[in-house]
Amino acid sequence: MPARLRLLLFVLLLPMPLRAQGALTYKLEYSAPGSANLRVAIELAEPSAGERTLVMPRAVPMGYGEQPYDRFLHNVSAYASSGEALAVERQDGPRWKLGAAGAHVARIEYEVNLAQMEREILSGGDSSRARPDYLELLGYSVLGFVEGLEDKAIRVHIAGPKDWPVFSTLAPKTPAASESLSVAAQNYYALADSQILMGHRAALRRIENKVPLFLALYSEGEADAALLGRLCGEAFQRVADYFGSVPFAHFTIVFEHLKPLSERHSYAFGMEHLESSSFSQSSEQALTVQTSQRQLAQTKYWIAHHIAHSWIPKRSYGQGYFPFRWELAALIDTIWLSEGFAQYAAIDALADGMPTKEGAAFRESMIESRFRSTLRRMPAFLKQMPLVELSKIASTRYSEDFRTGRTVFSRGGLMAAEMDQRMREKTKGKKRLRDALRYLVEWSAREKRAFRIEELPRIFKEATRVETRDILEKWLKPMKD
Ligand SMILES: [Zn+2]
Repeated sequence: MPARLRLLLFVLLLPMPLRAQGALTYKLEYSAPGSANLRVAIELAEPSAGERTLVMPRAVPMGYGEQPYDRFLHNVSAYASSGEALAVERQDGPRWKLGAAGAHVARIEYEVNLAQMEREILSGGDSSRARPDYLELLGYSVLGFVEGLEDKAIRVHIAGPKDWPVFSTLAPKTPAASESLSVAAQNYYALADSQILMGHRAALRRIENKVPLFLALYSEGEADAALLGRLCGEAFQRVADYFGSVPFAHFTIVFEHLKPLSERHSYAFGMEHLESSSFSQSSEQALTVQTSQRQLAQTKYWIAHHIAHSWIPKRSYGQGYFPFRWELAALIDTIWLSEGFAQYAAIDALADGMPTKEGAAFRESMIESRFRSTLRRMPAFLKQMPLVELSKIASTRYSEDFRTGRTVFSRGGLMAAEMDQRMREKTKGKKRLRDALRYLVEWSAREKRAFRIEELPRIFKEATRVETRDILEKWLKPMKD
């Protein structure tokens, strides 16, 4: 075997943490319980000569909007291997120019003011937060990247206050590590899309499922962790069964029930990630023994919908989702599929867990309540936009002006329902949209690229032998009323 090949094999066979050592190292230090201050250091293993650029995300995957995370960075500094401080210049946008021609940037340091972030970002689910006995860090809200090094493997060292449990969705385990933890990320995207939890108030539990499932719950009021864990387990099982295979090794659901920071703060949205979902709700929405069956069913559906996103669009996506652009929200033409079809998939996945008749009735009632009745309440000007145009508009304000989000997912959900109905009828129940979506996920894994809208009917037909192009075209057009 040639020496180079042997070396390559050796490197590939190394455990991930060792393999990542030659790459980038991120060090996160949170030292005092309740402190608003997080310290971050990025170490470049092989500093190259010349200027570097540090970039903080403003757009985040599935965020459909922008958040000014760069605003909360303070004391950005850069150093050579000798420890010599190098020049730092704040630039337009979320960027810092570091070093100078001839200098070698070996280490970048900065601090993040978590209290300022939580105060100034009004959508609770988009912010990290620190409490006297709890810390939640959304990777992309606190971790920047060095331009040009986004694809490098990353080693992450996390240090917390004395005796605090430290948990990362990149390598979840219970009980959590104490005080410090080292994990590896395949690249910047994987790191940015992960979450870190710390503190004794983060209640962690492992739920055996198709793959190990973890629930991390933080609640500022009464909450029934066992009940929530049961719903998460059922939702995950159903969605995993629906897609037929699980393309990740573990999954974490992060739930927070928070006392609103102000009247202007809202806590209503979940966020999906590669190997996790994070949910922030106000504390009165927490599940307790008094929670009605109806509310439990709605919560289970909500969780299932976000879990479904780990297949669509996190691993099977239209243009704009990946490769991801961090500084400016991408204009995406297929939100109706990512959101509408993923919601329909979650509905159908839960229906599969019921007796046939009950499942069909559930599916029909959800199509009515989630899609048809939602659309009836939306203004005509949004319904009369071509769906691709509406999708691009929702790309930057999906939840901020939720009328755009609601109209785009409802039209997509009804398109999915109509396609599913035709597939079932034409094949006498042998095929359904589930088969088309499983095939689409396989197609994406094979092709490693975004699908284009016009490719979808062919892909669906290969899976089911059923033509759906006319349904697609009908729903892409402006609606008549
Ligand atoms: Zn969604």
